[in-house]
Amino acid sequence: MLLNRFKRKLTFVIIPEADESVIRLSLSRAALCAIAVCAACILASSGFACLSYAKTSAALAMSRTELRGKNERLQQEMRQKNAAIEELRSQIYTISEQAAKVRAQVEDLKRLERDLKALAPHADSGKPAGAAADAAASGMAERGMGGPRVPVTAQEVRAIAANARASYDQLLQELSGLSSRLDQAKAELAAAHERSRRTPNHWPTVSRLITSPYGYRHDPFTGKLSFHRGIDIAGKLNDPVYAAASGIVHTVGSDRLHGNHVIVEHSEGLRTWYMHLNKATVKKGDAVDKGQMIGKLGTTGRSTGPHLHYEVIKSGKSIDPRTYLP
Ligand SMILES: [Zn+2]
Repeated sequence: MLLNRFKRKLTFVIIPEADESVIRLSLSRAALCAIAVCAACILASSGFACLSYAKTSAALAMSRTELRGKNERLQQEMRQKNAAIEELRSQIYTISEQAAKVRAQVEDLKRLERDLKALAPHADSGKPAGAAADAAASGMAERGMGGPRVPVTAQEVRAIAANARASYDQLLQELSGLSSRLDQAKAELAAAHERSRRTPNHWPTVSRLITSPYGYRHDPFTGKLSFHRGIDIAGKLNDPVYAAASGIVHTVGSDRLHGNHVIVEHSEGLRTWYMHLNKATVKKGDAVDKGQMIGKLGTTGRSTGPHLHYEVIKSGKSIDPRTYLP
């Protein structure tokens, strides 16, 4: 009964324009059902495909947005890292400049040290007591190192560079102060050395036997009280007579009172007189060093026997030569 109903046909009549013939289309109910089912399937498939396409498009759009965001973050990180690298380079450059200044100052100090040692020849020129220990420690430091490698962050590197720069700044300040102190010490030492060179504290004779001191005495010729402006030092004929300090030979002369004599001009108004020489061995204008031979001991002039009459004159007045002699 149901089968017969599906076998029945339905006729569709299509009526075109008036001058054309009528189109009749007969289809069974089964065929119509099949066509309806096919159309529904096609519609469903199309709808599903559209939905899938929409979902895929949305997913792609999200992925694209995420990728763009990641890309921007990466670019920002790269910019920050590049800036950090530039900053580190700048800091390292500053540190290297400071290192060059420190090296230059250390070289200056070494030169100053050499100069000071030359001025003070008896200063201890040996290595400092801790030098050997430092060298040993340095040798040990070259051995026995290890441990796991721990990467250093850019922030830590910046901290290290900042500490190094602060240390260098402090070191530069200390070196600068030390350098000026050493300059001052060098100048003072040079002045002291020069003063010592020009101070008549060198015995003018081999003998140190003073036969007549400075001051009042009975004159050896007249026996009357008189003032002795120098000291008489006994010695052998032709014993060497030395300059008591460095200076310039002011006078080389000879007369009945002083005999053959030499006067040496020193600094600060100081002069030394060497009288009764057998012979002078320098001439006027000669530069003489402390301890240099300037004549030979004798007994010329107003003298009772071989000796040196030695005087020290300061600003035109005689002073006791023993003030300076050791
Ligand atoms: Zn005398």
